Amino acid sequence: MGADFAISRARLDGARIRAPTMAGNEQLEAALRIVETLRARGHEAYFAGGCVRDLLLKREPADYDVATSATPEVVLEMFPRTFAVGAHFGVVLVAPETEDAGFVTEVATFRSDLAYSDGRHPDGVRYTKTAAEDVERRDFTINGLLLDPLRGGRLLDECFADPKILRDAVLDFVGGLADLDAGIVRAIGRPELRFEEDHLRMLRGVRFAARFGFELEAETERAMRQLAARIHVVSRERVRDELTKMLTEGHARRAFELLDATGLLAEVLPEMARMKGVEQPPQFHPEGDVWTHTLMLLEQLPAGCSMTLAWGALLHDVGKPATFRRAPDRIRFDGHVEIGVAMGAEICRRFRFSNEETRQVVALIENHMRFMDAPRMKTSTLKRFFRLERFDEHLALHRMDCLAASGNLEHWDFVRERFSSMPEESVRPKPLLTGRELIAAGYAPGAEFKEMLRAAEDAQLEGAIATTEEALRWVRERFPS
Ligand code: ATP
Ligand code: MG
Repeated sequence: MGADFAISRARLDGARIRAPTMAGNEQLEAALRIVETLRARGHEAYFAGGCVRDLLLKREPADYDVATSATPEVVLEMFPRTFAVGAHFGVVLVAPETEDAGFVTEVATFRSDLAYSDGRHPDGVRYTKTAAEDVERRDFTINGLLLDPLRGGRLLDECFADPKILRDAVLDFVGGLADLDAGIVRAIGRPELRFEEDHLRMLRGVRFAARFGFELEAETERAMRQLAARIHVVSRERVRDELTKMLTEGHARRAFELLDATGLLAEVLPEMARMKGVEQPPQFHPEGDVWTHTLMLLEQLPAGCSMTLAWGALLHDVGKPATFRRAPDRIRFDGHVEIGVAMGAEICRRFRFSNEETRQVVALIENHMRFMDAPRMKTSTLKRFFRLERFDEHLALHRMDCLAASGNLEHWDFVRERFSSMPEESVRPKPLLTGRELIAAGYAPGAEFKEMLRAAEDAQLEGAIATTEEALRWVRERFPS
């Protein structure tokens, strides 16, 4: 074991800087040049981790990470534009020489992690001599692959399209290729030890299985079930970020089924676990219980959807289990929206959502039943409904809600049609009246001003009045001064 030196207490939080997705070729070229430069100086260097996995799966990697035998000091000295944010635990960010390329490449020194005493971060890292030692610290076999991009000369883009050349260039010390072929997410080493070290890996494993449509290997899944309760040691923000990724990568249903199967759901979102077995009236919900309905909704969340729509979809019926009641005529959930709003707000608070995010998630829960009433709404009420922030998300949620139940899109069609045909100036017209006009008309300022102005605005939204004079006349007829 070659420990060059040990460093105490590496903090990994916030240090993983993601390069923005740029033209993939540019990032690939930059990573290739870095590998070439390191090799030319006699160091080992490979592509590592997620990018190797993605290339083998014929997916465009979000970024290309490099693993090398060179220490951070050497890397910092070798490249002209570097950032040392993670140098204390072996990671240097290398920016292309051209200004404003808009991305950086992570160059990580071969290392192994020291003990994890808190279930979140290694107490430190030590640099190792070999690539084989480096991959042992990585989480899953499919994430533990290295690629020699210069094998047989310089591999160009086209070579990445040839699976044979690509596979020959892979260094596999952990059986990652076989698991990738078989579609298996398997922890490297003993799963319970790996999850004890870093509990977040349990959520990462679920996320990768959902994303790629892979199975969790049996021992890996068993260890998750055994250690699920430890997830509380991980910061709520990191749990939230993992859940948000699961919800917005296009495989939310599978992710939540796996969270359920591993017992993680009951730990991170017990409110969701409680939906299981909560019956619904079959005439409105032929699909089954609240959990099934929610899963069917999650199934429709497209990849890349907004996090607020995703969380709104997840939580829209969160108030149902608490309000379940077998009334004489049918099963009812009276007040589930109000309870759901309170529970949703509490969940957003627990996961440290921003105020703006919370507002939208809660609004989605709060308004999801209003579509039913839309055809009977007065025009003014409908217009006020349309004034909800990001109304398109309300529409999208309602559509998914219908498709996950009766499949009847009548209300959605109605609302969408009215919404898209109504110009902005008719939904938010400039008010005909303000308090100033009321005072000029002889009214004494007071509490009823608000009521008067609202009534006048309603009449304006209904098209009953169109000028300030008409508005004043209209008010005088109804509110004696
Ligand atoms: P994604 O496509 O979501 O970015 P990724 O595999 O690239 O997936 P990253 O979080 O970018 O994941 O991490 C890059 C690599 O670092 C992983 O492939 C894995 O080898 C290693 N890694 C990341 N997080 C952990 C962890 N918590 N424990 C062990 N290894 C990890
Ligand atoms: Mg990555």
